[in-house]
Amino acid sequence: MEFEERRKILIDSLKVNRISDRVLDAMMRVPRHFFVPEELQDSAYIDLPLPIGHNQTISAPHMVAIMCELLEISKGMKILEVGSGSGYNAAVMAELVGDEGHIYTVERIPDLAYFAEKNLEKAGYRNVTVLQDDGSCGLTEHAPYERISVTSAAPDVPRPLIEQLAAEGIMVIPVGNDEQQLVVVRKDSEGNVSYKGWGAVIFVPLIGKYGY
Ligand code: SAM
Repeated sequence: MEFEERRKILIDSLKVNRISDRVLDAMMRVPRHFFVPEELQDSAYIDLPLPIGHNQTISAPHMVAIMCELLEISKGMKILEVGSGSGYNAAVMAELVGDEGHIYTVERIPDLAYFAEKNLEKAGYRNVTVLQDDGSCGLTEHAPYERISVTSAAPDVPRPLIEQLAAEGIMVIPVGNDEQQLVVVRKDSEGNVSYKGWGAVIFVPLIGKYGY
């Protein structure tokens, strides 16, 4: 079966998670097999995380879908992602913000920052910038961000990320160690911050100044 056919079957299967057509359509446009190591391409359209080296993973498609849904992403937004990994989640968000938006994605491990950059380039994304750094401190150069997506689990929501979230912004972040919760952080127009747990998740740890 061709990759596109397999992708369609996978994306259809994600509908059980109550994902909007906008997010599903965006995921349909991203060739996930470009974002996994060559020897795992055959498994790219199975709803599982896959190893990408350095003990890290590309997140499972359902998790990418849920996080994008919770972020309520619109065209033209500026988004910070912490944890580029393969670049796949950044590509899905790049589809959602369109050419008028931009994704800044920070990766701690140099080889993976390079892997993400190459994958995004191969897939033709021009509205994503990959940077190699400790993303637990955020990325002050381009702050504030209308949305922040953290794809590794923090001990607590890092203070710099709260500061760099724009008014009326949303951040999604896994928090915890053995037991992790996906937390939706909202900042209102006056700068008040609220936190809401979505449910249990499993992510690799956020390593860094405001991580583990
Ligand atoms: N979003 C990725 C994708 O679509 O493939 C999956 C990310 S993987 C689950 C988590 C990533 O977070 C790993 O690549 C890891 O190296 C990275 N990471 C952990 N701590 C970090 C930090 N302080 N700053 C930036 N990246 C970090």
